[in-house]
Amino acid sequence: MEESRAVIGTYGDEYEVDVKNQTCTCKDFIYHRKNYDIGDYKRLCKHLRQLIDERELVLVSSKELPISYTDALSVVEEISMHLNAFSNTHIKRYEFCGSLRRKRPVVGDLDVVLEMYPGSDVHDFYHYIEDLGMFINKVKGDTKSSYIYNAKVHVDFNVIPSPEYWAFHLLHFTGPKVENIRLRKISAGLGLGSLSQYGFDEDPKGLKTEEEIYHYLGEEYLAPEDRQQ
Ligand SMILES: [Zn+2]
Repeated sequence: MEESRAVIGTYGDEYEVDVKNQTCTCKDFIYHRKNYDIGDYKRLCKHLRQLIDERELVLVSSKELPISYTDALSVVEEISMHLNAFSNTHIKRYEFCGSLRRKRPVVGDLDVVLEMYPGSDVHDFYHYIEDLGMFINKVKGDTKSSYIYNAKVHVDFNVIPSPEYWAFHLLHFTGPKVENIRLRKISAGLGLGSLSQYGFDEDPKGLKTEEEIYHYLGEEYLAPEDRQQ
């Protein structure tokens, strides 16, 4: 089996080169990873270039692959550490939604719902995670941003514009799509309007939990892992 890690030393310095994920612990790489996208040869330091050329490997693609639930949990733990380090003054609460929250055996993207403290600027949060060097930005806006974490996992941060949308955001970003469609149909059938991450016709009706939303629709509550797959 091909070794995924190698240690290279020049002038007595040693760097840990991760061939599989195409990362290196040297200063050059840490600098380059902030400025070039995954899949760009310019992102690589000389250590990675040397190993990739020697072994005739292809560049890690910027297209993310699904990962197992267990692997996803350890990524979530890492990302949570970063969020918690920043959360005291900025992030009020956050939740990993999507297929991870539904405990699917294979997880695609990570969908995080975030609530900022009033007066906190979400762009300060973006700066903070970008400075860590492990998050490569793809899209950035006031309510949504997309990153590639550690060259392998796609992470979407969905920022709620107001706390009253919390439960509707959890429901919407936990999915799956078929369950969102089912609930939208029930809502329309009851004349409650269009159900979205902002409520019924963008009115959250004071509903604070997903249970309350299900009951408001006259439905039995389904835990995330029980929502239609
Ligand atoms: Zn290097």
